[in-house]
Amino acid sequence: MFEKACEQIIQAGRYLYAQGMVPATSGNFSVRLNHGEIAITVSGRHKGHLTDADVMRVDSNGESLDGQNPSAETLLHTFLYSRFSQINAILHPHSINATVLSRLSGEYVKLNQYELLKAFPGITTHKTSLVVPVFDNDQNIARLARLVDSYIADIDHQVHAYLIRGHGFYTWGESMDDCLRHVEALEFLFACELKQRGY
Ligand SMILES: [Zn+2]
Repeated sequence: MFEKACEQIIQAGRYLYAQGMVPATSGNFSVRLNHGEIAITVSGRHKGHLTDADVMRVDSNGESLDGQNPSAETLLHTFLYSRFSQINAILHPHSINATVLSRLSGEYVKLNQYELLKAFPGITTHKTSLVVPVFDNDQNIARLARLVDSYIADIDHQVHAYLIRGHGFYTWGESMDDCLRHVEALEFLFACELKQRGY
């Protein structure tokens, strides 16, 4: 199972790097394993050139299980796996569109009446909106994880992604393919929002 997770993470890295969404070793990716374990990228590795040696295992609290140093943002993955039992993959790109749009936005971005919203689970019509919350960047990852987790716990609508201001975004899915579809859809929608605002 770890080998398959590595392969999925390596391929996602190549694809996202080719799209310019994880420059300069930024971003991190993970896949849920059995028994509460998580496969996640090792801290500081170049996401376009990942190998098996750049993927490691952590427990559900983000503690290393193999002596390597996990991504600095590991807690932003582990809380999502605890919160959503149905998800099995998480991707965190640092794309230009997400970075710029988050700086131009307040507490959320409302993606309203787009056909591509149907890329997300449970959405079957363009006649809806998807709210993507925006959180201020914070180098205290545990504090940021608690903030996002309590938002998701309290809010009465589905959350499929969130933005971190001037930083990037997180999205997740039941499979890596679902998660990649969400990344592509969000990138398209973020680009539309920027164009509509004249950027
Ligand atoms: Zn990041």
